[in-house]
Amino acid sequence: MRKITRVGVFTSGGDAPGMNAAIRAVVRTALHNDKKVTGIYHGYQGMIDNTMFDMESKSVSSIIQKGGTVLKTARCMEFKTAEGRAKAYENVRAAGIDALVAIGGDGTFTGAEIFSREFDIPVMCIPGTIDNDLNGTDLTIGYDTANNTVIEAIDKIRDTAASHNRLFFIEVMGRDSGCIALNAGIAGGAEAILLPEKDTAIDELIEMLAHAADRNKSSMIVIVAEGDKNGGANNVAKRVHEKFGYYDTKVSILGHLQRGGAPSSADRVLATRMGYAAVNELLKGNTRATIGIRGSEMVTTPLEEALSKKELKLNEDLVEIAKIMAL
Ligand code: ADP
Repeated sequence: MRKITRVGVFTSGGDAPGMNAAIRAVVRTALHNDKKVTGIYHGYQGMIDNTMFDMESKSVSSIIQKGGTVLKTARCMEFKTAEGRAKAYENVRAAGIDALVAIGGDGTFTGAEIFSREFDIPVMCIPGTIDNDLNGTDLTIGYDTANNTVIEAIDKIRDTAASHNRLFFIEVMGRDSGCIALNAGIAGGAEAILLPEKDTAIDELIEMLAHAADRNKSSMIVIVAEGDKNGGANNVAKRVHEKFGYYDTKVSILGHLQRGGAPSSADRVLATRMGYAAVNELLKGNTRATIGIRGSEMVTTPLEEALSKKELKLNEDLVEIAKIMAL
């Protein structure tokens, strides 16, 4: 088995609350096993630019409660080229790094898989994205926090909506995945939820809203995932308003506030378990895989497999429950 003396850790792609807790767990687990740790700033860009530094236990003090990522993150086009990756590898080798932990989404995983194969360097990935849209895990780091942020917003909007008898369209993140919309919609008691995975015709939506209006609801909330096929909350609101004038209509686009904030307890623990597992898997000789959670168990899935299954299925039970709860 290959000897590992120094682990490099970085965050890449979209940031997510809980990434810091994962970094902390990687650093402390590696140090516990007498390995050295290098932090790489700005993901793959930092490998190319050589922005790396030695990490000690105190480098990760008091970060578990912080949103964002202390290692910063970036999207790096140069890493998609063979020359860019060669430059990155030169710097990684020169720093004495002989294994990597990559925290990010599927773009980050793709880069890690290619890099590991090209230069035969062990890599373990940790799923960090609020979208919960990765294969190989039931949950990604940041998803729970984002859901909590969204329901807090829905609750607040509900207060004002009910005071004015308003119909609100709230747009949440999720270009391809309706996970946040569906979960936060159920938790926030939404009257309807529009998901990228489902085609909901405007007339069908109006029918649902008219049905709710017949029961003299004082407010109505429609959650629209940004990837919904009708084209986002503004478009949906406009089209509904043209045909359905019963309520005063407003739109609220939550945007990037869903990415920030202190990670929830669930995300901190998940990230800590994943960081711990990532280092231990590398030390056991596992490579080119992603850490995941299935039920309450930590598992690994080869990156090739995790990246090849593109279709993630929406939980149809939840879709049905959401409809029944809105009756
Ligand atoms: P996420 O990891 O959140 O999905 P991105 O899709 O932006 O975010 O990917 C993060 C980074 O991973 C990219 O900026 C790029 O540097 C690297 N990456 C993505 N796809 C590839 C690829 N096909 N080859 C090499 N690197 C890639």
